[in-house]
Amino acid sequence: MLNELLEDYQEFNEDEALDEFIRLLWSSDYGCRTYRKTYAFKLQPELLNNNDELIKIFEPYQKIKIRHVISYYNDKPNSIDMIRIHINNMYMYLTNSEVYMSKEYFNFKIQPKKLYFKTIERIKNGEVVNIDEIRNQLLDFEKKTEELRLRDVGKKIELPFNEYKKIINGYIFRIFNNYKSPFEYEQENGWELNVIHDAWHEDNYIVKYFCKSLTGYMKNYIRNNKEKEIRKKKCNHCNEEFIIANNNQKYCTICSPVVRREKVRKNMKKMRSKKLSF
Ligand SMILES: [Zn+2]
Repeated sequence: MLNELLEDYQEFNEDEALDEFIRLLWSSDYGCRTYRKTYAFKLQPELLNNNDELIKIFEPYQKIKIRHVISYYNDKPNSIDMIRIHINNMYMYLTNSEVYMSKEYFNFKIQPKKLYFKTIERIKNGEVVNIDEIRNQLLDFEKKTEELRLRDVGKKIELPFNEYKKIINGYIFRIFNNYKSPFEYEQENGWELNVIHDAWHEDNYIVKYFCKSLTGYMKNYIRNNKEKEIRKKKCNHCNEEFIIANNNQKYCTICSPVVRREKVRKNMKKMRSKKLSF
């Protein structure tokens, strides 16, 4: 199916094949899908010595909910659906402020659950548990989790889905033009690829090729756009904000010649005073 579209496009110059691919891609039933996973524990008052205060401080953490992206589907998506799923997930990775957060964030978020089990273990061992200490630990976790959340969200970009779609369509055009069938690939690169020549394996090869290419193109897109971001600094001389071309710049365009002239003057003065002292 997918290999036929690519063949039609490359061998018979059929633009309709590309149009058909794009139509099938965006009409795929696989939209951006996420689910909320609950990291729960069952609070057992007797294990906390029926201590009301301890029960109260752990209660809010019994169900820690974290959103994830669905990346595996049991309902056998076809090759084009698989490419669409990759495109969706890339989009969520780049823009969604709830999913694809860092491991660090995730670790801190589930710390209260770990602390609960640590605490009941300590109680079981007959240790005296300091409630304030636990309360403070929980507050620290919350603070750290929020810090990490903001840090991760700060790395996301704003990109409306329609804009993203246009960008992806451009890349698909490139991918269609650059595509090499397993046969061509092997002729150019020897037999290292070891692709079994049946439709299923060929489609699999194409899906991988699409996903890898799209990831690469998108990475470049993000990098190029970050470079274009306007960076500002405060001038060390007049304290006004100015746009910097590189990090070493200390003075704005108005002050920088002034500062340079001052330096020259100072150096001249020094030299003159040296001469006088001889
Ligand atoms: Zn200045």
